Amino acid sequence: MKFITRLFISFLLLSSLLLAQNKFGIVIHGGAGVIKNLPPEIEKEYISKLSEALEAGYKILQNDGSSLDAITAAINILEDSPLFNAGKGAVLTENGIAELDASIMDGKTLKAGAVAGVHHVKNPINLARLIMEKSPHVMMIGKGAEEFGKLFNIELVDSTYFITKERWNQYLKLKDTLEKHGTVGAVALDKSGNLAAGTSTGGMIMKKFGRVGDSPIIGAGTYANNNTCAVSGTGHGEYFIRLCIAKDISSLMEYKNLSLEEAANQVINKLTNLGGTGGVIAIDRYGNIAMPFNTDGMFRGYYLSDGNKIIKIYKE
Ligand code: ASP
Repeated sequence: MKFITRLFISFLLLSSLLLAQNKFGIVIHGGAGVIKNLPPEIEKEYISKLSEALEAGYKILQNDGSSLDAITAAINILEDSPLFNAGKGAVLTENGIAELDASIMDGKTLKAGAVAGVHHVKNPINLARLIMEKSPHVMMIGKGAEEFGKLFNIELVDSTYFITKERWNQYLKLKDTLEKHGTVGAVALDKSGNLAAGTSTGGMIMKKFGRVGDSPIIGAGTYANNNTCAVSGTGHGEYFIRLCIAKDISSLMEYKNLSLEEAANQVINKLTNLGGTGGVIAIDRYGNIAMPFNTDGMFRGYYLSDGNKIIKIYKE
């Protein structure tokens, strides 16, 4: 090959690499499920909270912040909102208490942190991150996890903090208007090309105390790998665990060279075939995104470096 042709090809490769590296974006979800005909004022509330979370994450990415910081900020906003089934407003167990799960993963190092069955941690995603960054472990549960958080001044609250009037009435009536979904999650790609994923939840309504879903399980509800993608799931956790949903999407990309969209759709088809319900949000290292689900709706949205900001609730 002529020197000049080689030079030209190298230039093309380098510029596309640089371009890809400067791309960034965040995708979030606020749960999937039977979400039908919400009254306009409620719909507005959801959209405005999802928008606030997207803006917070986007700003961090735009200012050269990390994908981990971006997803943590976005998830904190959704955890603090009573609208979602995570942090304040989490669904209640059979015993009438909020029992929270969360996990986080860093696509650059494949480090991960997870927490399950905590009753006093205001923002479980922050404790998951602490476990990832400050302990030699990946997952901690219950009291021990809370004790660990205390060492680092994690914010603890009385267990009644999580219980909103709506969730309590829902618990009493055993009837669910927004169904048993509303888990929150975020995935992001930062300017340095690092991917991160996080998920936080109260789990399934009326779950048996001690039940752990997919959200705190790395590979099931959360996964991130800089070579492939970052994924956060929401839905019937038992199916997500059995299918290793989040890792399966990454593996299909890694071993079968599928695109993010193909991989995510294929895995959601597997979920449907097994009788499970739910959806995922995902972003790959080039900034492509996917948000497939097999339920009536999924609170979801993205904000990408090309300026595209979209929030959706229902099926297209
Ligand atoms: N996946 C969560 C769980 O099973 C619940 C949800 O996403 O709605 O705990």
